[in-house]
Amino acid sequence: MSKGYRVLPIRSVTDLFDDWKDEHPRGYEKGDTYDHVGVLTVQDLRLVVIAETARPRRRWVKLEDRTLLAAAVEHEIGHAVDFSLGEKPFSNTREFITA
Ligand SMILES: [Zn+2]
Repeated sequence: MSKGYRVLPIRSVTDLFDDWKDEHPRGYEKGDTYDHVGVLTVQDLRLVVIAETARPRRRWVKLEDRTLLAAAVEHEIGHAVDFSLGEKPFSNTREFITA
């Protein structure tokens, strides 16, 4: 089976995952839901999702800022590569931590 990831541009994260509407994304501010997420990596589906619309509160994820969007996409691609390198995220391995 391929270990590759796909990059999927969509309108909004909760359009694709409407059952996540009320869920709190890890690492986001209290009260945030997936409506606030612009870019994410879904390990189970081997997907990097890039939303055209989001309601970000944190300045660093304002999607209208192309530089920050590029940085966010780069960050998520990093996760995808990380997840692709083994069963567990490669960044959790001793080999990575002690490198
Ligand atoms: Zn991350």
